[in-house]
Amino acid sequence: MKIIVQALLFFLILPSVAFSQSNLESRIRENFEKRLKKQASLLSSNKMHVFLLGSGGPMPNKSRDNSGVAVIAGGVFIMVDVGPGIVKNMNLLNLPAGKISALFLTHFHSDHISDMGELDFQTWAQGRDRKLDVYGPEGVKQVVDGYNMAYRLDASYRTAHHSEEWMPSKNAGMVPHTLNISDPGEAVLFFNRNGLKAWVFKVNHSPVKPAVGYRFEYRGNVVVISGDTVKTPTLPKIARNADLFLCEAIQKEMVMAISKVAKEMDNPLLSRQMRDITDYHMSPVEAAEIAEEAGVKKLVLVHVVPPIEGFFAKRKYLEGTDNAFDGEIILGEDMTSFELDPK
Ligand SMILES: [Zn+2]
Ligand SMILES: [Zn+2]
Repeated sequence: MKIIVQALLFFLILPSVAFSQSNLESRIRENFEKRLKKQASLLSSNKMHVFLLGSGGPMPNKSRDNSGVAVIAGGVFIMVDVGPGIVKNMNLLNLPAGKISALFLTHFHSDHISDMGELDFQTWAQGRDRKLDVYGPEGVKQVVDGYNMAYRLDASYRTAHHSEEWMPSKNAGMVPHTLNISDPGEAVLFFNRNGLKAWVFKVNHSPVKPAVGYRFEYRGNVVVISGDTVKTPTLPKIARNADLFLCEAIQKEMVMAISKVAKEMDNPLLSRQMRDITDYHMSPVEAAEIAEEAGVKKLVLVHVVPPIEGFFAKRKYLEGTDNAFDGEIILGEDMTSFELDPK
């Protein structure tokens, strides 16, 4: 009887094990192929690709990670800001991490830089063939030096474990490039590779000084990223006729309501923080006003604060924007991609 049971088990289980093993391998192969195909097509595409990897702000948010945008055009891959969760999202979207060209930083608040160590490591581990270039305003050297110091031990373990041949120590770490802007009203061209041009411009996120935004151009398309800022007279000028304008906006009424309730519930620290953040960000209506003045085609609202879930909260966040801007308004969501055909 025991032998019969064993034989039955053998014939029933073995084929299913064999099947699941080959099935497993073919699924892995499929995933690898899909990943490689997507990466190759992004790098060889004649379009400008923009990926919104993080549309939220520092408050805990189930559906939105912190700031990060990827721009891929002409085989060049730029990341703008890397807040917490951004590198995970970059990998989940199968972006060509090992081929990253540079990281641009708007400012050094934690919600914009805290994934830098992870970006350095992940892009190196996926084959980056040089150190990662990091561009940012004054202060970028201090931030990059700090990350390099913190990750030096990790890099040494990886090289020791996988060998100099496969994880060369000369490619680990980041190199800072400080962007100087003499005229606060002008955008400065600082990057030009394979037809992708990038300008940097000053914004107003005081007391964070300097804080900047970026303007990209590729084959006639213009993409502008505001960075964190209040409404400035320069922004509509720089965003003029942009095809895509990713603009930060926090819903100040909702934030002030949190401040009020926090005070009533004996949490003066949170109450104070909520009140303070309203003075160095824009409202969604102000973002829409800039888009209107600049004549942009598509406005994408990012840095969505507070966390909004559900129809009514979203409607409240967008309240009044329709009246301020005639073009298309998109409430930013993580993992959204935009493709701009050459003109
Ligand atoms: Zn900020
Ligand atoms: Zn921020």
